[in-house]
Amino acid sequence: MATTFAPAIEAVPILSGGKWSELKSTCSSEIFNPSTGKVIARVPFATAEETGQVVDAAAAALPAWAETPVVERARLMFRFRALLEQHFEELAALVTREHGKTLAEARAEVNRGIEVVEYACGIPSLITGEVLPNIAADVDAEAVRHPVGVCVGITPYNFPFMVPLWMFPIALTCGNTFVLKPSEKVPLSAIRTAELLVEAGVPAGVFNVVHGDRECVDALLDHPKVAAVSFVGSTAIAKYIYERGTAAGKRVQSAGGAKNHLVVMPDADMDQTVKQLAASAYGCAGQRCMAGSVAVAVGKAGDPVVEGLVEYAGKFRVGPTDGNEEVDMGPVIRAEHRDKVASYLDVAKSDGANIALDGRRDFQSEGFLLGPCVVDRVTPSMRVWKEEIFGPVLSVVRVADLDEAIAVGDQCEYGNGAVIFTRSGYAARQFKRHFNAGMIGINVGVPAPMAWFPFTGWNRSFFGDLHIQGTESIQFYTRQKVTLTRWPKADDSHLDPVWRQSRS
Ligand code: NAD
Repeated sequence: MATTFAPAIEAVPILSGGKWSELKSTCSSEIFNPSTGKVIARVPFATAEETGQVVDAAAAALPAWAETPVVERARLMFRFRALLEQHFEELAALVTREHGKTLAEARAEVNRGIEVVEYACGIPSLITGEVLPNIAADVDAEAVRHPVGVCVGITPYNFPFMVPLWMFPIALTCGNTFVLKPSEKVPLSAIRTAELLVEAGVPAGVFNVVHGDRECVDALLDHPKVAAVSFVGSTAIAKYIYERGTAAGKRVQSAGGAKNHLVVMPDADMDQTVKQLAASAYGCAGQRCMAGSVAVAVGKAGDPVVEGLVEYAGKFRVGPTDGNEEVDMGPVIRAEHRDKVASYLDVAKSDGANIALDGRRDFQSEGFLLGPCVVDRVTPSMRVWKEEIFGPVLSVVRVADLDEAIAVGDQCEYGNGAVIFTRSGYAARQFKRHFNAGMIGINVGVPAPMAWFPFTGWNRSFFGDLHIQGTESIQFYTRQKVTLTRWPKADDSHLDPVWRQSRS
């Protein structure tokens, strides 16, 4: 929520055209340390005019960067990667400080982000074109990839370091310039990342960072010099970004929210499965777009799943994460978010579900804490099943067989990911082929997006056609040019006869 200035608190700068500066805006937002509940910085919001100036800086840098040889663009990423490794622990600690996830989770996030930089280091091999000689008599055909222009990234709070890295390493190495608008809740990791990219030698204007809310985002979506927009966030905003961006003639890839189902077959290894269910549902305090949100227990799996989760997750050490590694689960991002997540327990109860594990406790802390929650006997008619909660609440739906589990998935409006735990290859194959989601895990609690593959969310988890990461991202950040060439034999009668003979 926007507030007026609190001048005593450090303001987060923007990076535009190679220069760091502080916005003069009267509108800003507070950044909290969710472990302590304390404000640690504030981020002023760019007006439409200020946002336009950042896009202009990116546009001015475009021609020279697009002409920079691709191997030099790759070398920028090699240098950047080395700096990220060098500052690994500092980056992980910063993620924990502004987001609240545990240090182990933050380290995993930094690793995943670095993997995208490693993928982008291979750009000379990834961006090569195609040639078909003699497509017609004496005519050769070639298709080559060109940058699209100024690209924009608008990112969510839940992966402050990794999600920006899903976008700009690939966009930049494809020859585009970039404007990042990180979440106003967690801009510090993005700023530190930008500092390291500058240290790695990114030319002025090639990479820029701006902050803001809807006014800034609308200015980016409408700006005539913006060619492509990558968005990650909630479904309502993802749809809005997609519709407004494409209406303005831009290519848009827009990843939204999720409600991921974890199907447990009765033949699964229950001890392992319960641990993986808990890791999937409560990792990062449930604030992952690939978090397990609904356990679908098939047949006699129901009781062991619920009893196992209550026993196992009930012992989780929940507490502040900043400077404290002795915790299994940290806070959620804001007090209001914690209260909203917790309110789903009351909604579920009044809808007829059973609260098997209630995470509301007095934690003796100002942090935004909520323990793991298990809601049993949920049905697809309940709000707790339909809506993305984005916190440590796992619903359990009990079904008779795999067909019914797949039918539950068919009713879900999201489709980011789904998982099955089983020892049966047949069940796994049926699930893989027929479950209504784009990322599938088989005995893997979180089918995490990996740099080398596209993150293939389906349904209202994604708007657009070319997904983020992998080869689809190369396609998204480039446009093709096809050239047909014919070179008629030259009339060389004017040439010196000796020279002419040497050519024949
Ligand atoms: P959000 O949609 O509230 O915000 C995302 C971005 O949009 C932020 O930069 C924010 O400033 C901007 N924004 C917010 N409201 C806006 C508006 N009215 N107009 C224009 N811009 C606006 O999401 P969040 O709460 O930061 O992140 C959590 C959400 O992100 C969850 O729904 C989660 O599932 C989703 N998510 C999805 C993926 C994925 O790959 N599918 C990955 C991570 C997170």
